[in-house]
Amino acid sequence: MTATAKVETHEFQTEVQQLLHLMIHSLYSNKEIFLRELISNASDACDKLRFEAVSNGELLSGDADLRIDIDCDEAAGTVTIRDNGIGMNREEVIANIGTIARSGTKQFLDSMTGDEKSDSQLIGQFGVGFYSAFVVADKVTLTTRRAGDSEDSAVRWESDGSGSFTLEDVTDACRGTEVVLHLREDDKEFAGTHRLRNIIKKYSDHITFPVRMLEQQFGEPEEGEEKKDPEWEVVNSASALWARSKSEIDAEEYKEFYKAICHDFEDPLAWSHNRVEGKYEYTSLLYLPKRAPFDLYERDQTSGLRLYVQRVFIMDEADKLMPRYLRFVRGVVDSADLPLNVSREILQSNKVLDAIRSGSVKKVLTMLQNMADDEPEKYAEFWVQFGQVLKEGPGEDFANRDQVCKLLRYASTHSDTDEQTVSLDQYVERMQEGQDKIYFITADSFAAAKGSPHLELLRKKGIEVLLMFDRVDEWGMSHLQEFEGKSFVSAAKGDLGLEDSEEDKKALEESAKESEGLVERIKAVLNDRVDEVKVSNRLTSSPACLVLGEQDMALHMQQLLKQAGHELPSSQPVLEINPEHAMLQRMDQEVDEDRFSDWVSLLYDQAMLAEGGALEDGAGFVRRLNEMLLSS
Ligand code: ADP
Ligand code: MG
Repeated sequence: MTATAKVETHEFQTEVQQLLHLMIHSLYSNKEIFLRELISNASDACDKLRFEAVSNGELLSGDADLRIDIDCDEAAGTVTIRDNGIGMNREEVIANIGTIARSGTKQFLDSMTGDEKSDSQLIGQFGVGFYSAFVVADKVTLTTRRAGDSEDSAVRWESDGSGSFTLEDVTDACRGTEVVLHLREDDKEFAGTHRLRNIIKKYSDHITFPVRMLEQQFGEPEEGEEKKDPEWEVVNSASALWARSKSEIDAEEYKEFYKAICHDFEDPLAWSHNRVEGKYEYTSLLYLPKRAPFDLYERDQTSGLRLYVQRVFIMDEADKLMPRYLRFVRGVVDSADLPLNVSREILQSNKVLDAIRSGSVKKVLTMLQNMADDEPEKYAEFWVQFGQVLKEGPGEDFANRDQVCKLLRYASTHSDTDEQTVSLDQYVERMQEGQDKIYFITADSFAAAKGSPHLELLRKKGIEVLLMFDRVDEWGMSHLQEFEGKSFVSAAKGDLGLEDSEEDKKALEESAKESEGLVERIKAVLNDRVDEVKVSNRLTSSPACLVLGEQDMALHMQQLLKQAGHELPSSQPVLEINPEHAMLQRMDQEVDEDRFSDWVSLLYDQAMLAEGGALEDGAGFVRRLNEMLLSS
């Protein structure tokens, strides 16, 4: 290859520089991963070319066997990774590995903890794989030519990883990309054939293209024999794991495959490998990760499924393949029915894809149900990581609602701990005789849910209440009307629907009558801040509580939305009072109307605070409270 004289120098963007600095200064304790990252890029490049060649066969001309070759020179201390894939033109080189920090770079830097071992494992996940070359190299030279571009249009990129890189034009380069690593003094060991073979076996065995190295030659040639040039031999198994039959694959292989395609360092929690035949034919290999990724709750987080058509890679992050509430699923789907030249547009609405999707969703739900039934501890582990996402399910996936409901877990007053382990089946099983409703309460923390005054009567009657304190719960419950014929009732809203005994009813009526005067006085003070004031049948030890209409949004959520600047319909809650409570009895005796008014305000504000709502006049609350305390 000959390079022309013109050499341009470009600065790396600040964030790329920071990242490189971190890597170079030995953050990476697991150095050998550099090879996995570079081979993974080479394999992606071959995938991309194979896909483009479906509609433009010319691209492969002259060199149709896609492959990745690894070479090393022990004496010079270099490792070379070469692929005959898609390659890059000048603009692509600059965009992909240079000036511009990819979105992942900044997030990666933000999520660094300073714990070397775990930080280094993050690198692959953030799409900053290429830079890992600098962990072992003090100079990297990348020469690349875009498939389809003329032979003299190659470009060479070179950097020592400090602040800048150079670009120069190169003529007569082969199609694809060649990366030469000039190893650091301390990392020369990686230029050994044996070492490289082991690393390839360990991290890149599943790569579907042949990864080749020169065969090893032992000893000197015999007298009179000519020294033969070593031949290339394939080092990896180069078969699509998912296309092999289940019985041939052992657990270790499944785990390694997962780690390689997901850039994860941990084993998966579970997987499910299926060959589906019938109307449509496809294979799926679906994994559940052990740990939630950093961007699980980000809006544009896409699905981690890769779509193949007859083993040809089509695209990753195929978000058509999983609904959002299962966006943590990783793996591969390979269809025999889709056309090879599918475009993203075709995939927008496609019968085959719809069938694959609904089949795959069922597989995931079944995998989860089996885990919940057979390995509850493992399921608990899953729930801690992904439960909040799964709770979006009932609102999103009507067709599978019943199955998703069976997978939900909540905390409850049964154990009164914040661990979410109670299933709806368990709840129903424990229901009291005559109980036909599932009671729950939503709040913005476990403590607020557990301590809510709304639970007092239910607790007294020994009726279990599900305690919900995840953000998604209020929204999630608005989509759940019933489970197995039992309707859901919020303990904080409307009528609890408890069939009180005749005795209880009578007592309540009497109490209401006795308190008529007090109720009227309170109402006069609160005016339109409440819809109504009435004697409660849900309190036993608190003086009062605010009860919402059945359709109203919980107060802590109203609060959240208000903060976010949303207009809310102004429905007012009902103030329920407990006339047995000493505070109410004292109020009843109060003759000074100003003081009485202070009492009422305190009562209302307390009830509001207990719901996680915000006070309109916090300073007023404090002043009134202090006055009361001092005068008592
Ligand atoms: P990622 O692979 O997650 O996108 P990398 O840092 O590993 O992140 O690579 C950055 C980008 O550089 C790739 O997305 C690709 O566009 C380009 N690239 C890297 N290596 C190659 C290669 N061997 N052939 C073609 N393009 C490559
Ligand atoms: Mg990569």
